[in-house]
Amino acid sequence: MKPYAQCYGGHQFGNWAGQLGDGRAINLGEVTNKDGEHFCLQLKGAGETPYSRTADGLAVLRSSVREFLCSEAMFHLGVPTTRALSLITTGEDVVRDMFYDGRPQKEPGAIVCRVAPSFLRFGSYQIFTSRDDLTTLKTIVDHTITSEFPHLGEPCVDVYIEWFKEITERTAEMIAHWMRVGFVHGVMNTDNMSILGLTIDYGPYGWLEDYDPNWTPNTTDATNKRYRFNNQSPIAQWNLLQLANAIYPLIEQAEPLRDILSHYINHYNDTIQAMRAQKLGMSQYDEELHQQLHDILQLVETDMTIFFRQLANVDLDSNEQSDEQLLASLNDAYYQVDQLTDEYKNTLCKWLRAYQLAVNAEGISNDQRKQKMNRVNPKYVLRNYLAQLAIDDAEQGDFKLVNTLLECLRHPYDEQPEMEQFAEKRPEWARVRAGCSMLSCSS
Ligand code: AMP
Ligand code: MG
Repeated sequence: MKPYAQCYGGHQFGNWAGQLGDGRAINLGEVTNKDGEHFCLQLKGAGETPYSRTADGLAVLRSSVREFLCSEAMFHLGVPTTRALSLITTGEDVVRDMFYDGRPQKEPGAIVCRVAPSFLRFGSYQIFTSRDDLTTLKTIVDHTITSEFPHLGEPCVDVYIEWFKEITERTAEMIAHWMRVGFVHGVMNTDNMSILGLTIDYGPYGWLEDYDPNWTPNTTDATNKRYRFNNQSPIAQWNLLQLANAIYPLIEQAEPLRDILSHYINHYNDTIQAMRAQKLGMSQYDEELHQQLHDILQLVETDMTIFFRQLANVDLDSNEQSDEQLLASLNDAYYQVDQLTDEYKNTLCKWLRAYQLAVNAEGISNDQRKQKMNRVNPKYVLRNYLAQLAIDDAEQGDFKLVNTLLECLRHPYDEQPEMEQFAEKRPEWARVRAGCSMLSCSS
């Protein structure tokens, strides 16, 4: 094999950061399976590369467990993602200042073997345009199309435009899936945006516990919250604009690129609206119903995952239920019961009755609705504190919880009675613990 590290650049937090590159990732080569699909195997954390700059090229166990578990969880949730084949410890310590506050500590080192058809990023194209190296830009664009988008045909200007369109669509679909499952990537820099529309580079990501559209787990981004939950789609579009700028010299027509960037919004809206309808078990998207629910979920601290899962259990077949009966199934979703005022309960009941009307109008029974909803609303996600518990044990040399969570997260939509504890809401102790609610880019 001929291992290699890739050169790329990127916009970090909105600013062009110049050359970055695989600072600690080494591509071992490609394997082709019996269906003719190819996969690149990449070690993350195996040591210095030509792009390590001043860093060590290593990764700590903490962030490696997070990448390993989360990328597999996302795959089984049906979210486009790179995957993880293995996780090993290196037996060597790595020094990290987890919160950049002058308290460096030794942590166990680890290596994840990641798998994806390609690890090319938006920044893989930006770097060559930034250097006015249009020859290499063309080489890498043509190579990408030939090997990853062969259905588009022989590379030429029209194919470049079609290619960009497909990237925007794949990106829109990926983000819609993130919104469906409550995933916040945390560092949507253009060097962390896969050209294949895959979730890539699991760093300070997090899962919405409390439904707070403004939440980001990334403490490095705490002031501006650029990468907060409900900003992910606008940011994806901004990143796509940077990609459009990067490939423009090969196309030299602004109009089609601009049209595709507007098309991004339409494609995202169509996709997310279909998903929102599915999350409610409905065929038709109802804007008002969605908007009201979006507002209600923010009135009190509500666990997004549990709420949608439990909503499937609310009996909407019968018209004779008291408010208390209607609300009973949803109790588990709340973090602070004293927030459940009469006013709140009235508002939610009113919504539930409107939802009931809409569902009945579509002629969907409780059973049908539950089946539909449970296919898109996971019971199990990698709750932030669960990842941290697995890390705590792993750092002591005990990988049982890592393996149990992996098993659990392979069936996120199934009821798994023996795994019930992993579906529970975040315990109070985890509200403010580092690693559970706050994360930094240090890894
Ligand atoms: P990230 O924020 O993880 O996407 O990383 C941004 C850039 O920093 C990428 O080019 C990484 O390869 C590089 N990088 C992050 N951590 C290390 C490290 N420990 N050693 C070398 N390069 C790193
Ligand atoms: Mg990265």
